[in-house]
Amino acid sequence: MAIPLKLLTYFATQIVSLPPFNLSNMRPLQMVDTATQYQKIKKEVDAAVISVMESAQFIGGKVVNDFANNLAAYNGSRHVIPCANGTDALQIAMMALDLKAGDEVITPSFTYIATVEVAALLGIKPIFVEVDKHTFCIDPEAIEKAITPKTKAIVPVHLYGHAAEMETIMSIAKKHNLFVIEDNAQGIGNVYTFSDGTQKKTGSIGHIGCTSFYPSKNLGAFGDGGAIFTDDDALALKLRMIASHGQQKRYYHDIVGCNSRLDAIQAAILDIKLRHLDEYIDARRAAADFYDQAFAGNNKIEVPFRANNNLHVFHQYTLILHDVNRDELSEYLAGKGIPSMIYYPVPAHRQKMFDHLGGSDFNLPVTDWLTERVISLPIHTELDHEQQQYIVDHVLSFVNKASL
Ligand SMILES: *Cc1c(COP(=O)(O)O)cnc(C)c1O
Repeated sequence: MAIPLKLLTYFATQIVSLPPFNLSNMRPLQMVDTATQYQKIKKEVDAAVISVMESAQFIGGKVVNDFANNLAAYNGSRHVIPCANGTDALQIAMMALDLKAGDEVITPSFTYIATVEVAALLGIKPIFVEVDKHTFCIDPEAIEKAITPKTKAIVPVHLYGHAAEMETIMSIAKKHNLFVIEDNAQGIGNVYTFSDGTQKKTGSIGHIGCTSFYPSKNLGAFGDGGAIFTDDDALALKLRMIASHGQQKRYYHDIVGCNSRLDAIQAAILDIKLRHLDEYIDARRAAADFYDQAFAGNNKIEVPFRANNNLHVFHQYTLILHDVNRDELSEYLAGKGIPSMIYYPVPAHRQKMFDHLGGSDFNLPVTDWLTERVISLPIHTELDHEQQQYIVDHVLSFVNKASL
């Protein structure tokens, strides 16, 4: 039976116009795939959420306390103070350390804005310093140079999941009598090894550690959440009070605080996900290994550096591009159904919000250099080899073609 030519042409155009990612059964690519992750723990999560709803204990209570205790045990911290989000965690930490208007904190500029925004909110001056070109984390040498009599604290960020050089940072802090607040929002689960062989989880090394349970984080809630870590009993009490309107006894408000709570539904979900966190980290690391091997030897693509003193937890998988047009690559990938992101397109010191604090007076060539060259590819617990091979093939095809 003859098929009319018109119909054949119609089918041909239909096939040609389909984006290639629809030709197989491959799951659509996303920067993170929390929906698929949920399907695997759905039974446990649903039961836990229903149980909170039935108890009607939505704020505080056993579920929140149990999660805080389990997280403290996981992280090797004496105390965990749950709060509403990672930004609050940082703010409460700075308040508990009595950092005040006119004080200075030393932080990287190459970070998510929350790290430094809270300082500015409290009138504290952020002193932006360089990051290491390979680890993307604060450069210890730059810290020493930035210390003044007004310096009160150092805020290292374990960016993308790679730990900052904590041993050196802690010794600088000790020498100059400074506090260290770790921004562990991207680093939870990372294990840092000191030169004497001692191992500690990031977030438990500084005087205070802060983390976020934003859904896309490595330990992500189904909404907002955050936590503060410390080994210091007095500090723990103060952090707890500040997160709760400055009260220890209900309706007796001793110090100025704020209202920052993790709700029980989030805590119930997080408690289940905490049991899977190490396995989630393994999956992220395996995905990173796959990318590393596929990109090995390509001189246009610099794969993420991994110092051997810490366990990179790959919150992000971030490449440094050499002589590649980043915008064109990103557009090309988008056309193939592959998302990519720039974390972060503008470093903190160049944000408008810091104009009045002389942000652009800071001379940070490494930070600027990285900001122009980094690109993050999808990385999460649910990536399979078919998806990764598809991503790799298209990245390489663009990069190799562009270099002709
Ligand atoms: C996500 C994040 C925060 C803020 O956490 P929120 O829960 O979104 O407030 C702070 N610092 C870094 C490095 C982050 O990635």
